[in-house]
Amino acid sequence: MEFTKSIQAFQEALEYIPGGVNSPVRSFRSVESDPVFIESAQGSKVRDIDGNEYIDYVGSWGPMILGHAHPDVLKALSETMQKGTSFGAPTLLETEMAKQVRKMMPSIESVRMVNSGTEATMSALRLARGYTGRDLVIKFEGCYHGHNDSFLIAAGSGALTFGTPNTPGVTTGTAHDTLTAQFNDLDSVAAHFEKHGDNIAALIIEPVTGNMGVVIPTKEFMQGVRDLCTKHGALLIFDEVMTGFRVAKGGAQSLLGIEPDLTTLGKIIGGGLPVGAYGGKKEIMDHLAPQGPVYQAGTLSGNPLAMAAGLTQLRLLDNDSMIYDDLERKAGMLEEGLKNNLRELDFPAVVNRVGSMFTLFFTKEEKVTSFADVMKCDTKVFSDYFKYSLESGIYLAPSQFEAGFVSAAHTDEDIQRTIEASYNALKKIKQK
Ligand code: PMP
Repeated sequence: MEFTKSIQAFQEALEYIPGGVNSPVRSFRSVESDPVFIESAQGSKVRDIDGNEYIDYVGSWGPMILGHAHPDVLKALSETMQKGTSFGAPTLLETEMAKQVRKMMPSIESVRMVNSGTEATMSALRLARGYTGRDLVIKFEGCYHGHNDSFLIAAGSGALTFGTPNTPGVTTGTAHDTLTAQFNDLDSVAAHFEKHGDNIAALIIEPVTGNMGVVIPTKEFMQGVRDLCTKHGALLIFDEVMTGFRVAKGGAQSLLGIEPDLTTLGKIIGGGLPVGAYGGKKEIMDHLAPQGPVYQAGTLSGNPLAMAAGLTQLRLLDNDSMIYDDLERKAGMLEEGLKNNLRELDFPAVVNRVGSMFTLFFTKEEKVTSFADVMKCDTKVFSDYFKYSLESGIYLAPSQFEAGFVSAAHTDEDIQRTIEASYNALKKIKQK
């Protein structure tokens, strides 16, 4: 494969854009490589500016559950844009969107649209603080909730990938208000509630993690978290920016059978346009301005193009009775294929998967159920695996601490090719 044009493009971008990218993990720096520049995408494939085509498991980091450039989404966008692109005034589309969200996730009685996942979690935390009159928030080590100051403490995703889970620029005061606990370790949560129970406004969690790779909660842990929040009057915030409409039609909350007080959304809800949302019980949401005293606003919030793309995608997901079964089948086929490869080559690694979200962890451990387990992974092996995969036309997230996404557009043939490429990559690593 030739990467000449991408290499040149990156050199130029470095001159004008910090690190050459508008979001750090894209730089491929964590796998000691240069990024490929994408020119176009269609269905399950992305194509770079050198003309290389890849089977895509990044899916724009989650939104593209129907695949790229879905004709219905494009049609909705082009029809909507003919009528103007932004008004900063109420539109019918916004109510349609809110109704659709409530239909698919009934715990969200009332929802406010914002422009990114980061905005969603930031606003949900402010609301939780305003509603409870308390200051503290509990988050989990390795979970990522966007780049708000309050959540860049022991954060996952790019912050973890680049070794900056606690970034400079966050004041000690802010850091002081964030308590960290361990995923799947209820005692670590209970200890905070015992000590600070009457000043904890909220607990925020990725109900299935994606930002330290896919880690699955035990039922007892999640129920325990719910019970502790209820007992101490703290709001339980499920950050479903990644898992919402992804791991199941009703998100992780429907899979786990646990109702959070607030939910944050992003990615899929925008159909590939910049969108986030947060919602929950009406009684809580009504504390937001103009109804209530907690301020939050946005010039482009509820933007008609974003609403049209997102609503079209959500309706397609809601109305196609087979779509989640098919995602489960294909992702299951991928999981099995990857596991067979590992067995055949006697290669130490663990595959975790929930619905169409998966991670292949390069570890000698039997299971990966905690942040401590994730930290035992061999990121050097991951880097090699990533590069060999890319060169054989498989586009993975360039970090061990991320999830891969299967979309409705992936074909059985795509999955088979991926399993073969994975086998070859593992073999090359063994031979190194
Ligand atoms: N929460 C979670 C669970 C996420 O996965 C992400 C992004 N990966 C965010 C919040 C932040 O979303 P955004 O990048 O749109 O700000």
